[in-house]
Amino acid sequence: MFEPILLKRAALPQSQSIEVYMANGGYQALEKALREYTPDELIEMMKKSKLRGRGGAGFPAGLKWSFMPKGDDIPKFLCVNTDEGEPGTFKDRELIEKDPHQVIEGTIIAAYAVGAHRAFVYIRGEFFQGFKSWIKAIAEAYEKGFLGKNILGSGFSLDISVHRGAGAYICGEETALIESLEGHRGEPRLKPPYPAQKGYLGYPTLVHNVETLANVPHIVLNGAEWFASIGTEQSTGPKIFCVSGHVFRRGVYELPLGTPLSEIIYEYAGGVPGGKKIKAVIPGGASTPLVTPENIDVTMDFESLAAIGSALGTGAIIVLDEDTCMVDVARRTARFFAHESCGKCTPCRVGSGRILAILERIEAGNGQPGDVERLRSLCDGIAGHTFCPLGDALVAPIRSSLNLFADEYEYHIKHGRCIRAA
Ligand code: SF4
Repeated sequence: MFEPILLKRAALPQSQSIEVYMANGGYQALEKALREYTPDELIEMMKKSKLRGRGGAGFPAGLKWSFMPKGDDIPKFLCVNTDEGEPGTFKDRELIEKDPHQVIEGTIIAAYAVGAHRAFVYIRGEFFQGFKSWIKAIAEAYEKGFLGKNILGSGFSLDISVHRGAGAYICGEETALIESLEGHRGEPRLKPPYPAQKGYLGYPTLVHNVETLANVPHIVLNGAEWFASIGTEQSTGPKIFCVSGHVFRRGVYELPLGTPLSEIIYEYAGGVPGGKKIKAVIPGGASTPLVTPENIDVTMDFESLAAIGSALGTGAIIVLDEDTCMVDVARRTARFFAHESCGKCTPCRVGSGRILAILERIEAGNGQPGDVERLRSLCDGIAGHTFCPLGDALVAPIRSSLNLFADEYEYHIKHGRCIRAA
C-alpha cells in the first residue's frame, strides 16, 4: 500500500491550520532550502527530480524555473494557478482546503529559486472554501514569519496575495490567467513570448499548478533521487488521481505515477456498481481521448497514455459503464467547451457551437444523414487551427468518441434514439 505524501496530513483534524502543519514536519523544507541551497542548486534539484507539471501539460518544472532570467535587476512574479475547472478534476481543491500550507511552502521555495518577491494566488471564483482557506493560511504564514520581509533571517522576502477569478475555464491557461490578473478580459496571449520572458505586467512570471508546488517541499526535504525513485523512469513522483463516474468509491487517490488504470478503478475505487462492464474511461479530464476496456491495464503516466493515443492530463479518471450513451457524453463535453470558449478565434468560437448543435439534434432524435461526417469535418477544421489549446481540448475527446463509437452515432441518427434503448 502506497503511503500518501501530498495527502498525508489531509485526514488529520484541523489539517489546514499552521499548528498541525508544523507539528507534522511543515516549513522544515523552507528552512532547509533557505539555509542550505542557492537558488541555482534548487533549480538543479528540481531538474533531477524530473517533477513535471500536474496541471495537464506535464512540462518539466525544473526546466520551467530555469527559463526565468537571473538577477534582481527586474521584478519577477510567481502565480499559483488555482483555477482548476475541467470536468472531473477536483484534486487541487482538496489540497487547498485540507493542506494549504504545503502549497504555500512550495510557493515560497519556488519563488526563492527564481528570485520572485511577489506571488499571486489566482483562484476560481466558485471555490469559496478554498479562497477562505488561502486567506487564513497566508495570514498564519505571515504571523509566523514565513512570508514578508527577510524570511527566517535569510534576506529573502516574499509577499503573497489572493485574486479571485470569475469562473472562466480559459483562465487556467497561463497567459489568460495573467491577462485576468492584470484586470483584462481573460483571453490567451500569443506565445512566444512565454510568461517566463514576458508575463505579469510584461515581467518574467512563473505560473505553476497547485499540485506541482505541493511536491516541492518533499523534494527539498527528501532529495531529488528519492522523488525520482517514485513512479516510472520519466513520470516521477506521486500523483493525485480524481476518480468519478460509475465506480463505487468516487474520490481522490494519491498513488505513484505508473499505477495501472485497472488497479485504480477496481482496487481503490471499488469497481463498477451492479457488476456492469466498462464501456470507456476518460483518463485525464474531459479533454483527454477515451480509453477502452482493451487498454484498461494501461499505466497512468505521461508516456504510456500517449502511447495508446490518450493523455494523462490532470489525472481525472471518469469511468463510463456499459449503459452510458456516448452521444450524450460527447454532447455534455461539447457543451462545456462551447460555453468556455473565450471567443477570441473563429475555429473555436464558431466550431464548438456547431459541434454542440449537431450533437444536440442527434441526441434529440433529429440527427440527419451525414452528421457524423459533418462532426468529423468540424473537428478537422478546429484541430491545430486555434489560438490556444482549448480548441484541441474540445476536439480530442469528440474525435475519439466518433472513432470508437461510430455505430452509436449512426444508430441515434437512423432510429432517433440511443442504442441502449434498442
Ligand atoms: Fe479562445 Fe477557444 Fe481561441 Fe482559445 S481556442 S483563444 S479559448 S476561442
